[in-house]
Amino acid sequence: MSQSSWKDQIKKKWGPHSHCPICGKAMLSDKQFCSQSCKDNYISREKKQKKKGRIQMIILFGMMGVMFIFIMFIG
Ligand SMILES: [Zn+2]
Repeated sequence: MSQSSWKDQIKKKWGPHSHCPICGKAMLSDKQFCSQSCKDNYISREKKQKKKGRIQMIILFGMMGVMFIFIMFIG
């Protein structure tokens, strides 16, 4: 009689798998997301972050520009 724990049984049942980065569901390891909606979710989130990064860049360059003008006028 082989004694396998429920954990081993789950391992056998699921095989190699990873978890969806959006909802945390177990899924096949060759997939990046468990479903199309999670993929869309991830893409829209990434887009938002990119937009945020761009705005921060613009603010930084704007501040540098203001500083530059300020120094030019003072000096
Ligand atoms: Zn998911």
